[in-house]
Amino acid sequence: MEQLHQKRVVVIGSGPAGLTSAIYAGRAELDTTVIAGFQPGGQLTITSEVENYPGFAEGIQGPELMENMRRQAERFGAKFVDDNVTAVDFSGPVHKIFVEDQLYEADAVVIATGASALWLNVPGEQRLRGRGISGCATCDGFFFRGKEIAIVGGGDSALEEALYLTRFASKVTLLHRSAKLRASRIMQERVLNHPKIEVRYETTIEEALGENKLEALRLRNTRTSAGRGEISQFALEGLFVAIGHRPNTDLFKGWLEMNEQGYLIVEGETGTKIPGVFVAGDVFDYRYRQAITAAGSGCKAALDAEKYLEQLVERPIERQTVRLVLEQNDTLLAV
Ligand SMILES: Cc1cc2nc3c(=O)[nH]c(=O)nc-3n(C[C@H](O)[C@H](O)[C@H](O)COP(=O)(O)OP(=O)(O)OC[C@H]3O[C@@H](n4cnc5c(N)ncnc54)[C@H](O)[C@@H]3O)c2cc1C
Repeated sequence: MEQLHQKRVVVIGSGPAGLTSAIYAGRAELDTTVIAGFQPGGQLTITSEVENYPGFAEGIQGPELMENMRRQAERFGAKFVDDNVTAVDFSGPVHKIFVEDQLYEADAVVIATGASALWLNVPGEQRLRGRGISGCATCDGFFFRGKEIAIVGGGDSALEEALYLTRFASKVTLLHRSAKLRASRIMQERVLNHPKIEVRYETTIEEALGENKLEALRLRNTRTSAGRGEISQFALEGLFVAIGHRPNTDLFKGWLEMNEQGYLIVEGETGTKIPGVFVAGDVFDYRYRQAITAAGSGCKAALDAEKYLEQLVERPIERQTVRLVLEQNDTLLAV
């Protein structure tokens, strides 16, 4: 038995993309519900200072920024459900979103489930995130002016971030677990020829050390001692983990198109193959991955949803039947 909730717009995800969509949809007086997910407020809730979001001259704490966005959406009538969407059904004209035994039906859906940075999962890493360990060079590079730092990874994005970090850091050490980088030849040339970058191959990170801030890494050189590797300690002030991101799109497999990495593919600016289903933020945008770009696409998705709803012809029978039952009972037990 499912309990049915009927909405004009359901937003899945409550990071900058989802909350901006909710602000716009709410302000357009569309009955809007946000399913906030396992991380209400999104990725910025695990960072401290955000210095590049426009409008905050002195910077703002990530959690505070997201709390403000949520309150702004609530001010325009958006309702929140602090739970995960467990399944979707986009087969009919009315889109179905399941949250355990609750069924949300919506005329328009904005998917803003973001992407999660992959972490090393070594001791000390979680404790020191935001205290010297970061997953975003564009976001946090500025804090490491004149400092010695490392970056772990070997693909194009890791090398791009290593080059970016040379603007701030006094020295950047690229740590890579195998004997060859995966990145394109041109990126490799740029990195290998850069005077501030040193590459350490066949090196893995065993542990991040430091109480309240990162002080050193325990490294293993996997080439030596018949694979067991030689352990050393490497003093530094910052570590950037650039081993990839995983878009939160498992839910949409079989319904929406994705690229090889699982990022949703958009049609036009925010559309999908399914009318009334829109996409915003890091869940499709693997290139920019910033709060402001996520918020920008959240705005576009809500405006596109609003346009779509304006054009939607009144739906027939099935909806009217549901309305009759709802008149007698606030909620409906659906079959
Ligand atoms: C440590 C760190 C620091 C950063 N610092 C900055 C910075 O200083 N400046 C900057 O511009 N950017 C920064 N970023 C990047 C920025 O946080 C992201 O680009 C931005 O949050 C993406 O927004 P989004 O709304 O697309 O997704 P996210 O913020 O990832 O939000 C995704 C949302 O989807 C929800 N969700 C996922 N699955 C489900 C589900 N099944 N059901 C319901 N909800 C679901 C989650 O709960 C979450 O609320 C940083 C990122 C990290 C990790």
